[in-house]
Amino acid sequence: MTVGRYAPSPSGRMHLGNLCCCLLAWLSAKSKGGRVLLRIEDLDAARCPRRFAGLLEQDLAWLGLSADEGGSRGGAHAPYYQSERSEIYRHFYDILAAKGLLYPCFCSRSQLHAASAPHRSDGQVVYPGTCRGLTAAQIAEKSRQRAPAWRVRVPDEDIAFTDGHLGFARENLARDCGDFYVRRADGVFAYQLAVVVDDALMGVTEVVRGADLLSSTPRQLWLYRTLGLPAPQFYHLPLLLAPDGRRLSKRDGDVSLERLQARYTPQEVVGRLAFVCGLQNTPTPRAPEDLIDGFCWDKVPQTDICLPEGLF
Ligand code: GLU
Repeated sequence: MTVGRYAPSPSGRMHLGNLCCCLLAWLSAKSKGGRVLLRIEDLDAARCPRRFAGLLEQDLAWLGLSADEGGSRGGAHAPYYQSERSEIYRHFYDILAAKGLLYPCFCSRSQLHAASAPHRSDGQVVYPGTCRGLTAAQIAEKSRQRAPAWRVRVPDEDIAFTDGHLGFARENLARDCGDFYVRRADGVFAYQLAVVVDDALMGVTEVVRGADLLSSTPRQLWLYRTLGLPAPQFYHLPLLLAPDGRRLSKRDGDVSLERLQARYTPQEVVGRLAFVCGLQNTPTPRAPEDLIDGFCWDKVPQTDICLPEGLF
């Protein structure tokens, strides 16, 4: 059985890009006779107050895209809030530690962004391995100054995969990514570890998400393998851009759900989204169920989608 998922980080109200991702995750799973679960990625609990998760569920229900499992509805894999799953993450973190793959990192943000560190194409820093070889005495000394974050040592290895939508991709972990965080200095487990553990334990078989996370996928595939967990099929979506080419963000009130609900019916929103995603030739209003039969990834553009002026 296909199990898809929504994995939002509700630090604000959903915007059109989030909606688009939910619509395609829902259609991709439903077109295979599957179901969808909702996991709230509120690892950074202070930035993701519960009321936004509640609003998100209301917004999904309004659109006709409610999940079959998870969120406040609960289910067999509860809890579905990452902020309540740290003991589970700790177990897998301990497995990485037992394999000798973890080390403490004392680098500050400004050190990491210093000119010597190479930058990836997505703007992130490739960690130069500054703290990789610290001796026990150095670690003890530095621990007196500040609490460390924890990184996992990656091998000098190419990780290749075939994205269900964007096709073949490959990255060398050591060269293109570097050792990455699995735990922050304040003890919170990092997204890369949590998402892998959760998708595997929740039985997720396909992950539909924005292309901004394509570059995280090799790291995650390596973690699945290292932890002995089954990996899902990935489908990365092109990003939705505002008519002027800007990236949509939760700060853009012009495409927030609040604004859309004041102007349109849910079917009008879904129909317009289906139109920009190539699933129908006109922005005719549609219920999500009407789109299941004709759904096919081949119809969805592979490059960023600029919203036509005046459509929303
Ligand atoms: N929680 C992440 C976000 O909202 C998505 C993570 C994922 O889909 O893997 O950006």
